[in-house]
Amino acid sequence: MGDTPLSVTPKLGACSVCGRTSETKSGWFFRREKRGRRNFVDIDYCPSCAAKVQTEIQEQSRDANLQGGILLGALGAVLGAAGWYALVLFTNTKFGIAAVGVGWLVGRAVLLGAGNKRGTALQVAGAVLALAGLIGGEYLIINHAAQQSIEGFTGWLNATQFVTFYKEVLVHGNPLWDVVFYAVALMAAVGQVRPLKLRPRP
Ligand SMILES: [Zn+2]
Repeated sequence: MGDTPLSVTPKLGACSVCGRTSETKSGWFFRREKRGRRNFVDIDYCPSCAAKVQTEIQEQSRDANLQGGILLGALGAVLGAAGWYALVLFTNTKFGIAAVGVGWLVGRAVLLGAGNKRGTALQVAGAVLALAGLIGGEYLIINHAAQQSIEGFTGWLNATQFVTFYKEVLVHGNPLWDVVFYAVALMAAVGQVRPLKLRPRP
């Protein structure tokens, strides 16, 4: 039982493609995948499988459907902005964290529209559309506040008025948190279409 000699090589995690194991893992690659909030899983690739996967990853970003990604991403931005606005209407509170939800939604939509592909162009599209969604949501919220506070104003703020109001909101609010939430929102969008990357085992 306890004193059985170790005749088998210790299994340090097999290649996720071919199942081969190696004691040293020299020349091996891995990819860290997020599973849940703080749970990461390392997926291992032996040298020969890593080369194949590397090529697949390159091809993946090459034939991505950029138009589809932009189209669905734009829809995500509109829905995100509207959802954020609705949340403000129902709760009477502007949750900064909701901005992150907008970013996440846009990223998901870009990924889906691109045919589950990733790449730099899609990352740029994700960032631009997420920002558009955030500013759109911001506009709806501020426009609503303006209608509430200005006697007789029922229309829409023009760009200059919006910027003026927005500055007011920032000055009287907590601009640092806005920056944080916006940054996290953009990362949430961009991260979802970030090309997969294999890293060499240390
Ligand atoms: Zn392998």
